[in-house]
Amino acid sequence: MSEAHHSFCHRDEEPEKKVLYIVGTPIGNLLDLSPRAINILKNVSLICCEDTRNTRKLLNFFKIKNRLVTLNQHNINSKIASILSQLKSGKSVAVVSDAGMPLINDPGDKLVKCIKDNFLDVICIPGPCAALTALVCSGFSCSKFIFYGFITKNKKDRKEILENIKQSKYPSILYESPNRILKLLDDLQEICGGQREINLARELTKKFEQHYGPNIEEVLRNLSNIKPKGEFTLIVNGYEDKKLSSIEALDNIKKDLLDLMKAGLSHSSAANYLAKKHNIPKNKIYSLVTNQT
Ligand code: SAM
Repeated sequence: MSEAHHSFCHRDEEPEKKVLYIVGTPIGNLLDLSPRAINILKNVSLICCEDTRNTRKLLNFFKIKNRLVTLNQHNINSKIASILSQLKSGKSVAVVSDAGMPLINDPGDKLVKCIKDNFLDVICIPGPCAALTALVCSGFSCSKFIFYGFITKNKKDRKEILENIKQSKYPSILYESPNRILKLLDDLQEICGGQREINLARELTKKFEQHYGPNIEEVLRNLSNIKPKGEFTLIVNGYEDKKLSSIEALDNIKKDLLDLMKAGLSHSSAANYLAKKHNIPKNKIYSLVTNQT
C-alpha cells in the first residue's frame, strides 16, 4: 500500500487572538459552509462583511450570533485602521464576502496587506470559489489557467484582453453579470471565432445549475431566445490545448500520419504535411509515431 501523502487533522479550533481569518462562504448552496468556518464565525470577536443583510441570513441559517461590521470597496480604507487596532488589542477578526472566497474579485486584499505589514497573522478557512468550481467542471486542463474576473468595458483595453484570451495556451476564467454575458460572448466570438471551446457555468452549486458548451457559437445559439438570469462564470479553453490535449484528435492525426507513411511518404514529409494542415508544430506530430510503432 502506498503511503498517504497528506496529513489531516480535525482539531476543534478556538480562534486565536490577533489573527485575521479569511473565511470562504457558499456561492449558492448553504450546505457548502464548512464546519470549521462555522466554528470560526461563531467564536471570533467580530465579522467583517460586504453587506450585513446578506451575511446575517447565512449566520441565521447556522444559528450563529456574532457582531457584524461592513467592509466593502467604498469604506475599506477608512475601516482598516480600526480593524488593525482591534487585532492589536488581542481580538480575532473574520472577513467574509457576500459569496465565495473573500478577496477573489471581492474587497479585502488591502486589509490583508496592511495586517501582514504589521506582522500579524492571516489564516484562511478555505471555501468555494466560483472560478475554480467552474474550471473543474469544464473538461479543460486545470493545472495552469488565467483568471481575469470581470473584464473592463473600455473598448481598447477590452480588445487587448480578448486578444490575449485568443492567444492563450491556458484556459481563461471570466466572471460576468447576466445582463452583459451575451455581449461578452459576442465580443469573444468576433475575436476568437465561434468554434472556440468554452464552458459557461450558470448558478453553480444551486438547484438550477447549468453548464453550456461546447463552443461560443453553440452557446450563443442556446442563449439567443432567453434573457440570461442568475450568476455566470465563463471558461474559455486555451488555444493550443484544444488541438493538443484532445486524445481523440491526436489519435486521428496519428492514424493519418501512419496512413501517409504507408502510402509512401517519409515520416518527416508526412509530419510536415499534417503540421501545416492542423497548424500544430511539426515535432509534436512527428513524435506521435516512433520508429517502433
Ligand atoms: N469571491 C467570489 C468567488 O470566490 O467566487 C466571486 C465574487 S464576484 C464579485 C461575483 C461573480 O462570481 C458573479 O458575478 C459570477 O460571475 C461569479 N459567481 C458567483 N457565484 C456564482 C455561481 N453560483 N455560479 C456561477 N458564477 C458565480
